Amino acid sequence: MNELLKKQKRYFHTGETLSLDFRLKQLTRLKEAIQKYEQTITDTLKKELHKSSFEAYTTEIGIVYEEIRFITKRLSDWMKPQRVPTPLTHFGSKSYIYPEPYGVTLIISPWNYPFQLAMSPLIGAIAAGNCAVVKPSEYTPEMSTLLKTIISEVFPEEYVAVVEGGVDVSQQLLDLRFDHIFFTGSVSVGKIVMAAAAKHLTPVTLELGGKSPAIVDASAHIDLAAKRIVWGKFLNAGQTCIAPDYVFVHASVKSLLIERMKQYIEQLYGHKDTYSRIVTVRHAERLVRFLTNGIVVHGGTYDIEQRWIEPTLLDDVTWDDNIMQEEIFGPILPILTFGTVDEAIQMINDYEKPLALYLFSEDRDVQQQVLQQARFGGGCINDTVVHVANPHLPFGGVGQSGIGTYHGKASFDAFTHYKSVLKQTTKFDIPLRYPNFPNALKWVRKLLK
Ligand code: NAD
Repeated sequence: MNELLKKQKRYFHTGETLSLDFRLKQLTRLKEAIQKYEQTITDTLKKELHKSSFEAYTTEIGIVYEEIRFITKRLSDWMKPQRVPTPLTHFGSKSYIYPEPYGVTLIISPWNYPFQLAMSPLIGAIAAGNCAVVKPSEYTPEMSTLLKTIISEVFPEEYVAVVEGGVDVSQQLLDLRFDHIFFTGSVSVGKIVMAAAAKHLTPVTLELGGKSPAIVDASAHIDLAAKRIVWGKFLNAGQTCIAPDYVFVHASVKSLLIERMKQYIEQLYGHKDTYSRIVTVRHAERLVRFLTNGIVVHGGTYDIEQRWIEPTLLDDVTWDDNIMQEEIFGPILPILTFGTVDEAIQMINDYEKPLALYLFSEDRDVQQQVLQQARFGGGCINDTVVHVANPHLPFGGVGQSGIGTYHGKASFDAFTHYKSVLKQTTKFDIPLRYPNFPNALKWVRKLLK
């Protein structure tokens, strides 16, 4: 790994990765390789996570194509040095900001969207002119190998390489001195990554998780709220970082919401064939333990060996139950109630800042209040999950749910250092700054007040 890093550093210093032309070519080559392997990617997602081909395209492959298209179209603008104003105190000089790549970057990705969450950051790294080492998750080993196949087919390893393996491999990589680390995964491992990065003062982007609430106010359009919560929660069997973790509903509309959610579970996820599986038996066992919390009002059956858990609704859950102490990351949806919006906001702010928050309300004052007072990474009003797919919206967490953002321009920024440079004239030299200038302080005070 050390050799690989050295190779990439040497390659980066040749300056090959810097031109617009080079970056665009690599993005195109990557896209063509994905097109070539599209069916294999879909099959692997089916095999390892039982994702339907519809989900595979909409949440993994299509979103990657869109990211390449969006970035390719705008890259030349983003790469241009930007001239900025210069104050009068610096008369004669001009000021510029030069976007430049960090150098060699490390991308560590999780298993839940094993293709998209390795590729999307890589697209940002390439667009910004970096070299990259990608370490996919060991829990989806076939996708990990497929990523290696695709990437080694398009890129030499001194430019982009995939290193496969588990925690030990990840830790060995983290010991090395990369120029930037982009990590997607759990909060606890995020802390390990940041501690390792601190040893070298390596900048990090941390895309983590948390307990993302779906708040349903008394004024909400209940039918659509139910449909959109069910869709976002049970997509990929709840193994989505921005899935609604729990429903927080006004007591007056709870029964109606539950009734509608049951209907939509049947409608949208009633077919075993097109519903995802839990990634491993161990992960399924952890989830099944939550089924003793509250009262099961829908679902609750499972087949551990098949890694299948029915979409489940749990009523009468309390904040002290185990299921409310950690991110669920599976197809179990606890339902809690509130009396006033103030109370709901306070409860949410008492928890760690979530990666996402969803508010269902027709009342503009309530919308405004929640937006102003609740702290969270990003989210939607009257929908779930879809904010992630707008490349104009930087995506990321805050506090324990993450550091930094990506997607679209934010991906370019995540892998870019903005180098500020002032170009001074040599035609004259304003003497004011020098201490031997008569009344220097008086003049400086006049200019800098
Ligand atoms: P994880 O943190 O267990 O693993 C992520 C990666 O870190 C894997 O590649 C793994 O090999 C590596 N890793 C694991 N333990 C490590 C250690 N001790 N030292 C160094 N590296 C280690 O996460 P996961 O289970 O793969 O994914 C689920 C978590 O990821 C959830 O919390 C979810 O919310 C979060 N997530 C966040 C986003 C986002 O965009 N914010 C997206 C997907 C998943």
